[in-house]
Amino acid sequence: MPDTRYVFVTGGVTSSLGKGIISASLAKLLQARGYRVTIQKLDPYLNVDPGTLNPYEHGECYVTEDGAETDLDLGHYERFLNVPTSQANNVTTGRIYQNVINKERKGDYLGKTVQIIPHITDEIKRNIKLLGTKHKFDVVITEIGGTVGDIESLPYIEAVRQLKWELGHRAMVIHLTLVPYLAASGELKTKPTQHSVKSLLEIGVQPDVLVLRTEKDLTTDVRKKVALFCNVDIRAVIQSIDVSSIYEVPVKMQEEGLDETVLEKLRLPVEGKPELKEWKAFLSKLKNAKKTVRIGLVGKYVELPDAYKSIIESLNHAGTYNDHKVDLRLIHSENLTPENVENKLKDLHGILVAPGFGHRGIEGKLAAVKYAREKNIPFFGVCLGMQCAVIEFARNVLKLEKANSREMDHNTPYPVIDLMEDQKNVTDKGGTMRLGAYECALTKNTRSYNAYKKELVNERHRHRYEFNNEYLEQFEAAGMISAGTNPETGLVEIIEIPSHKWFVGVQFHPEYSSTVINPHPMFLAFVKAAIDHGKEKISE
Ligand code: GLN
Repeated sequence: MPDTRYVFVTGGVTSSLGKGIISASLAKLLQARGYRVTIQKLDPYLNVDPGTLNPYEHGECYVTEDGAETDLDLGHYERFLNVPTSQANNVTTGRIYQNVINKERKGDYLGKTVQIIPHITDEIKRNIKLLGTKHKFDVVITEIGGTVGDIESLPYIEAVRQLKWELGHRAMVIHLTLVPYLAASGELKTKPTQHSVKSLLEIGVQPDVLVLRTEKDLTTDVRKKVALFCNVDIRAVIQSIDVSSIYEVPVKMQEEGLDETVLEKLRLPVEGKPELKEWKAFLSKLKNAKKTVRIGLVGKYVELPDAYKSIIESLNHAGTYNDHKVDLRLIHSENLTPENVENKLKDLHGILVAPGFGHRGIEGKLAAVKYAREKNIPFFGVCLGMQCAVIEFARNVLKLEKANSREMDHNTPYPVIDLMEDQKNVTDKGGTMRLGAYECALTKNTRSYNAYKKELVNERHRHRYEFNNEYLEQFEAAGMISAGTNPETGLVEIIEIPSHKWFVGVQFHPEYSSTVINPHPMFLAFVKAAIDHGKEKISE
């Protein structure tokens, strides 16, 4: 569409103010008014993508259908908008520089000195516009990572300045800041916002809308003051008050008129109201859920729940649609041993063993699997969690002593999880796993088939190792079956124990595709099984 509109979201004062949620909420409101909207995240670090980052650094790595390893904010975008994102929705400084340097080597700039301005900024602008021109969105919302004032984000802000100049009313900037409340003086303080807007002005960008994060309601005086000092209309001073669920933010933003102000600035028609019926139905279920289901998430990054963002959100979606609140217990796999497992897991209604890489915490995960299997507690293994279920079954049921994944023990006598054939010659670490969506054909009359109610599904992957099919017969004879395979390669994608209450492991990542409007069927089924188990426990 030639007149795609561009909204830039920048952040000031501090990080973690929730630019991703504000971007996703605005996108939701515009989508609910019938616009084709997408959101893009520009990350100012030098990694080409976050795939090689430890989750402790940056939280979960989110994988798109087209196999891009991306920032976790893309997960929010998909959960809010219910439309898939792609590689084009996440660009890092590393990728920008890589593209520019590749062009330089090809001779595209022959004779010229290659510089941050205009070459890096042009490449940033090209990536921003790509979504509008190639994918034909009406509105592209671009979230600029980092905080205004960081050296790293300067080229991005400069690109925004240039685009505002080039595109006129088709581009605008929303700046998100914090208005702290000082308990000692009982006041909301606007000075950090004023300073932050000043930093933006110094680099030539006048924000059009200010979104102020606050714990307390902003008074009219505070709004007036901010409007006056920051050259914005009072209607463009938007309050973003703390709420108990991120899914309430679109409704709050609508109450503040964010969508209308943005449409007016972009000179797009403002007719009627956003259609949020399904969204509000979800919110009302979320608020009205009284009963709780206790789920244990066993992983090694539990100190930083952002490492499991999509899993936690998927559990919340599934809990809500099952009219339950999820009482999530984060259990550190490193602290779990065969001796203490009973004590730590006995109160749970369902156990989820998380994805992961490397051997740290692996024995704790195996102890959790064994406990869930033997005590007939609903179990869901995701990626490494599924591989742990296979290893545990091999060791304790098939009696294959020291069975393991080749990842954890290269010399294991029983590599029940082994390196995929096409991974054997791979040496580079970045972007080389089995990534993105692949088909999975489900076996009829399994828990998975009953959950999906389909024969063929598409799920996203991110792994190098797989179930070793040489052992499949032995496993199936002993009661662990393959419930889903890749139709082209025969790779086992799902394992189940039919005699167990609900014991399912998936090689893929269902958590990447659970959204508010479309909760994932496997999470729904797992949480339902956990709720039923909880009821049985009470009546015991
Ligand atoms: N480390 C395992 C593999 O590479 C599992 C990966 C994951 O859990 N995402 O196969």
